[in-house]
Amino acid sequence: MTLPRFRCYIDGAFVDTDETFESIDPSTGGAWAVMPAASAVDTDRAVRAAYRALSDAAWAGLTATQRGKLLYKLGDLLAEHAPRLAELETRDTGKIIRETRAQIGYIADFYRYFGGLADKAEGAHLPIDKPDMEVYLRREPIGVVAAVVPWNSQLFLSAVKLAPALAAGCTVVLKASEEGPAPLLEFGKLVEQAGFPKGVVNILTGFGQSCGKALTSHPLVARIAFTGGPATAQQIVHNSAENLANISLELGGKSPVLVFRDADLDSVANAIVAGIFAATGQSCVAGSRLYVERPIYDKLVDMLVAKARAIRMGDPQDPATEMGPLATARQRAHIEALLSQSVASGARILTGGQIPPDRKDGFYFEPTIVACANNQVPCVAEELFGPVLSVIAFDGEEEAVTLANDTRYGLASGVFTRDLTRAHRLVRRIRAGIVWVNTYRAISPLAPFGGFGLSGLGREGGADSIRDYTRSKAVWIRTSDDPIPDPFVMR
Ligand code: NAD
Repeated sequence: MTLPRFRCYIDGAFVDTDETFESIDPSTGGAWAVMPAASAVDTDRAVRAAYRALSDAAWAGLTATQRGKLLYKLGDLLAEHAPRLAELETRDTGKIIRETRAQIGYIADFYRYFGGLADKAEGAHLPIDKPDMEVYLRREPIGVVAAVVPWNSQLFLSAVKLAPALAAGCTVVLKASEEGPAPLLEFGKLVEQAGFPKGVVNILTGFGQSCGKALTSHPLVARIAFTGGPATAQQIVHNSAENLANISLELGGKSPVLVFRDADLDSVANAIVAGIFAATGQSCVAGSRLYVERPIYDKLVDMLVAKARAIRMGDPQDPATEMGPLATARQRAHIEALLSQSVASGARILTGGQIPPDRKDGFYFEPTIVACANNQVPCVAEELFGPVLSVIAFDGEEEAVTLANDTRYGLASGVFTRDLTRAHRLVRRIRAGIVWVNTYRAISPLAPFGGFGLSGLGREGGADSIRDYTRSKAVWIRTSDDPIPDPFVMR
């Protein structure tokens, strides 16, 4: 059987690469498509095309309002094609169809939001301290953007880079992950259909050490927007020494969820399930460390165990499925290894912890809850990126905050309490880029997203993020016709 073949999108054309690789369907473990593996030479072509497009009249000559309209059109096309893209994302990553459909429909709103903002990224007029000068600041596109994304939620993670970058007038080379790149390569067709001039958006996939490195160290790249793991981020920071590009890093997390005795436990249980078992736990904001106030510990843990056991695992393309497979065999092996180290250090598996006996094909893993004594247990300390919830009891607010902040990460967090004053106190004290109170795993194009510490730097989403794709230019205009005074003294 011939497998479907995907192509890179470079300089307005869909192109084959010399090297290819097979993409694996995580629900079967079998190859289902052939993907291009962009080399350093292909990557250089894409960056040069983006660099040319940056000053080409077809793009540079558009007003900000016209750029906004193109983004709006792209959003509409995305919404129209959401079912097809969702099916591809589910096939290539194992993420369940009910989530990919809903998520892609919403991603359209990210393009529309930034489309609306394109002509609102204003410069400034400065009330300068010299009577014969007019000084104003222009906001100009920063240049070619290298956007690098990991395999989970590639369409979403690229939207929060691509949309503000294009709104600002930049051009982009987007590198899809080598795992699950199908929806992003297919998305290139919508970019073309929306009418973006050639070279403005280029989409590649390939491996980190060839394509990724060539892209992030390329001398013509001015801005790197990266989402992925902290170890890769460190390599990218090294790469960026070659081009001194501005950089934003959206990295991993080990997000704490604090539940106090006055919380509404039914609602808490659902939010915790959403935080750790949705997307099979493969989410940077996964609420993977659960801290429960001791008096309600047993009751809440029993509720969670019952909910975890009732989760319907299965074919991710079936709309009734609640949890699909992990995306890769490597990911599952990593989880198994960390779990067995955790058990060896005294952790107790309350449910799950196994490959489901009826799902030996594909990369399935049971929803798992682990009782842990402290933050040193490996499954509490390290990101698993899977459906594993570690639970620890606490006594009082002070201990809860100490446990929550005892991490090098700082992406998201959750607080469940009906005590408003306590909620506000905790919001101030928790060290994380996002605090959800009495809810979990909510996002919006309007809200900045990003972390502290090992979770990264910079923010994506929200109106300010357009500025990160611009650079300012100070313009000085002398308004006097008198001769320039003493040339040997700085004015
Ligand atoms: P990864 O870091 O292995 O890969 C991410 C991307 O970087 C891929 O496209 C990869 O090809 C590329 N890459 C690898 N080496 C490179 C190099 N030397 N130079 C340039 N590019 C290179 O991440 P992953 O395993 O695919 O994804 C999981 C990680 O992503 C987790 O840590 C997760 O928490 C994180 N993540 C963070 C967010 C966020 O918004 N904070 C969102 C999703 C995922």
